[in-house]
Amino acid sequence: MKELINAIQSGNTSTLSAPGVKVYASSLTQVGNTTLLMVRTEAGKRLLAVGESDLYEQLKGEVVDGAKVTPLSHENRLTLNQYLPYTAPQAFGTQVATMGLGDRLGIASPGHIQTIRGKDIRPVLAQQSIRELALTGRTYEDVLDAAAFAVFQEGYKDGYGADGDHLKKEEDIEYALRLGFTMLTLDCSENIDNTIETMSADEVAAKYAALPASLREHYEKRYLETPANVPGATLNYTREALQKDVLIYDAAINFMEAIFRKYIAPLDRAVDFEISIDETATPTSPEAHYLVANELRDRGVTIFSMAPRFCGEFQKGIDYIGDIAQFERELASHAAIAVHFEYKLSIHSGSDKFSVFPLIGQYTNGLFHIKTAGTNWLEAVRVIAKVNPTLYRRMHQFALDHFTEATAYYHVTTDIEAIAPLAEVSDAQLPDYMEENNARQLLHITYGLLLQAKNADGSKVFADEFFQTMTEQEDTFAEGLRHHIGRHLELLGK
Ligand SMILES: [Zn+2]
Repeated sequence: MKELINAIQSGNTSTLSAPGVKVYASSLTQVGNTTLLMVRTEAGKRLLAVGESDLYEQLKGEVVDGAKVTPLSHENRLTLNQYLPYTAPQAFGTQVATMGLGDRLGIASPGHIQTIRGKDIRPVLAQQSIRELALTGRTYEDVLDAAAFAVFQEGYKDGYGADGDHLKKEEDIEYALRLGFTMLTLDCSENIDNTIETMSADEVAAKYAALPASLREHYEKRYLETPANVPGATLNYTREALQKDVLIYDAAINFMEAIFRKYIAPLDRAVDFEISIDETATPTSPEAHYLVANELRDRGVTIFSMAPRFCGEFQKGIDYIGDIAQFERELASHAAIAVHFEYKLSIHSGSDKFSVFPLIGQYTNGLFHIKTAGTNWLEAVRVIAKVNPTLYRRMHQFALDHFTEATAYYHVTTDIEAIAPLAEVSDAQLPDYMEENNARQLLHITYGLLLQAKNADGSKVFADEFFQTMTEQEDTFAEGLRHHIGRHLELLGK
């Protein structure tokens, strides 16, 4: 470390190195009298601060050879945010494409930044749902800290977002906003009645007839008597379909409005407010999408994006399943509705949907929000399969043994029987599992169980060795992400 400090003190920063220390050269930053540098020692990543100033004083750490070596703590992250505004999350509005790159492990953001840097799209690096926090044992503080330090490490100054993803409860919304999250994805699934979709026409009519007359008149006047006029969208309201849409979405629209008025409208800062109606049993028709959007606009609710549930299946970690021609037809309408109401179409579970990415790029004119989350975990598993076969085998077996338990959290159509038996696969072939959909889904949905698994003595079954390996292989991991997420961007036209 002494060599590094001497070099910085003498202003000789063109080649920074020291024995036993990894230097993240892109992080080198001058703030007033203080030079900051991200390094990794045997103890882990540290922020090195050389040169006294208020920033130097505020950073909490150990003084070594006349410089400060500070841990990547929450407190130090807040200090960094104060002096380097680009390390704090920001809202993006609707005029630039954005990509949610949820990082469940807290180690994927450097690779994500390297992938997205210089492209016409901005990253939402901090993006986790409460379910993901529970499954990984992390907090929103952890998630933001990891993203901010990654941004610093990479010297990425184009801005990043922080999304409180799929929030349903007011306490969670308050929590995310209090910490400075800049995007909020409101999950309306608990206010969407999934029983309507499978009801008979008579049942629907009876339930609809029981609604207040004024409510029925409101909707009928707006959607049956006045034709919707959205250039580029095909919208045909029938009485029966409208009755269904009202029964399915009216309560959800009230919920969206209430949350907007209570939490978003009063804020003195910008927040990208997204409405999610995707995690339900009911696909969102273009008519339903328009109805929800139109009601929101009339109530003065401004949104950044809307995530409908598209036809077909957007399962985690694998390509689109469904009728691509129907998807294209409906996408054209969904995208036109988003343009009409001046927000972005949001595509959830957007990882690995290679067969429809070109359509998404085309119909949204490159202005979309797309979320990926689990695919970076699969890239991490690919690294483990390559470099630590014994750990991979143990994880794979554990995932098989706990698969049924994990399906409680995610909807997948995995065929466990179709996965090649571990005993018949050589070490060199282990990474091939990450090319096969059933194995991908198996490992995709068991991440929480794998990371949290504990031995009888309380130690972690996999997590410590997993993170140790990933630390040693961080460049391989980043390279895998550049390749995999890079393919997403290319097909999306970015
Ligand atoms: Zn979603």
